[in-house]
Amino acid sequence: MIYFDNNATTQIDPEVLQQMLPFLQDQYGNPSSAYSFGKRAAKAVNIAREQIADLLRCGPSEIVFTSCGTESDNSAIQSALLLDRDRKHLVTSRVEHSAIVKHAETLARRGYEVTWLDVDSEGLIDLDELEQAIRDDTAIVSLMWANNETGVLFPIEEAAEICRSKGTVFHTDAVQAVGKIDIDLSRLPINFLSLSGHKLHAPKGVAALYINRKTRFNPYLIGGGQENKKRGGTENTASIVALGKAAEIASSALQDENTRVKALRDRFEQGLLDTVPSVQVNGHRKHRLPNTSNLAIEGIDSEGMLMLLDQKGICCSAGSACTAGSLEPSHVLRAMGYSNERARGSLRFSFSRFNSEAEVDQALHVIPDAVEKFRSMNRGFLAA
Ligand code: PLP
Repeated sequence: MIYFDNNATTQIDPEVLQQMLPFLQDQYGNPSSAYSFGKRAAKAVNIAREQIADLLRCGPSEIVFTSCGTESDNSAIQSALLLDRDRKHLVTSRVEHSAIVKHAETLARRGYEVTWLDVDSEGLIDLDELEQAIRDDTAIVSLMWANNETGVLFPIEEAAEICRSKGTVFHTDAVQAVGKIDIDLSRLPINFLSLSGHKLHAPKGVAALYINRKTRFNPYLIGGGQENKKRGGTENTASIVALGKAAEIASSALQDENTRVKALRDRFEQGLLDTVPSVQVNGHRKHRLPNTSNLAIEGIDSEGMLMLLDQKGICCSAGSACTAGSLEPSHVLRAMGYSNERARGSLRFSFSRFNSEAEVDQALHVIPDAVEKFRSMNRGFLAA
C-alpha cells in the first residue's frame, strides 16, 4: 500500500508506540490517585505537557489535553461565548474544517450571528475584510492555520495581531499545521490553538488545546476537575504520553518535513503536471503546507478515481476525509470559486516522513495510466 493521505490521519511512529505501551499494560494508574503508582501516571502526563509546550514554545500550564481536535475547537468557541454573553457575533472563514463550520452553523441557528470570510481563488483570506468584520460584539474570531484540503496557510500572525489590536479573542485551528510548520507561540497574540494527535503520528482520540495564560477559560467538559479544572474526565494517559513523544519527535523532524517531505511532494506534483495534460494545482503554491498537493484533474471524477487508485494500492483523498463518501463537491474548492466540475475532479495527496521516493515514483508510474483509462471511459460513455 502507498499511503498518500496523511492529512486524513497518520501512521503511529514506532517510537511513539513504544513510549505509550507501558501505560496500556502495567502502568495503568489513575493520574489523580494519591499513591505513587498514580503519581507516576500524573508525572508522565506532565512530561507530555512539557513536550508539547516545547514544540509550540509556550508554557506547560497553557496546554490542556482533550479527546480530539473537534473537542478543542468546540471548547475554545464555547468558552468565549459563555464568558461574554453580550457578544453574539463570531467571525470565521468559509473554508474551515467541519469542526468549526458545523458548530458555527449550529450557533447561527441558535441566534448567534456569523460572518463568513471569503477566500480568493488561491484559498487566501483578505486581512482588510477580517479587520472590517470584527465588531464591538464579536466574541471570537476563529481561523484555521492550514487548510486540511489544500494545505493553504492563512496569515495567522497578521490575523492574530489584528484581533489583538481590536481586543477580540482569537482561536486558530492548527490541527493540520502543528508538526508540519514552525509555530512560536511566545511571540504571537493567540488566545487559543487546537491540535490533534493523529495528524502528527500519535494515536487517534487524543488532542490538546493551548489556552494563553492570560485568557479566561470556561471548561467545556465539567467533571472531576482534571487538567487543572479546565477539562473534566480521567486522562487518557497512554495516548497523552504518545502525543508528547510525537511532539518531541516533530520538533526535531520539522526540518525534514520542510526539506525531504516537501521534496517528495514537489517531485510527485511536478511529475504529474509534466506527464498528465490538463492538471492544475488547487491553492496557493507558495503559502501552503510542505506535505500537501491538491490537484484538479480534468475529465475525472474524484470518487471513481479514488476507487481505481485504491485497486492499485494508492490511498489519497477526494476532499477531506470527513466529507468523503458524500457526493457534495468540496466546500473549500467551491469557496475558492471553482466550478462543481473542477471540485469533483480534484484529488488530495498528502505526504509524511514515512513516505519514500520509491513510492512517489511508483505512484507516478500508475496514476497517469489510471487517469487516461478514466478519461477514455468517460469519452466512451459520452459517445455512447
Ligand atoms: N481541524 C482540521 C483542520 C482537521 O483537519 C481536522 C481533522 O481532519 C479536525 C479539525 C478535527 O480533528 P479530530 O479528527 O481530531 O477531531
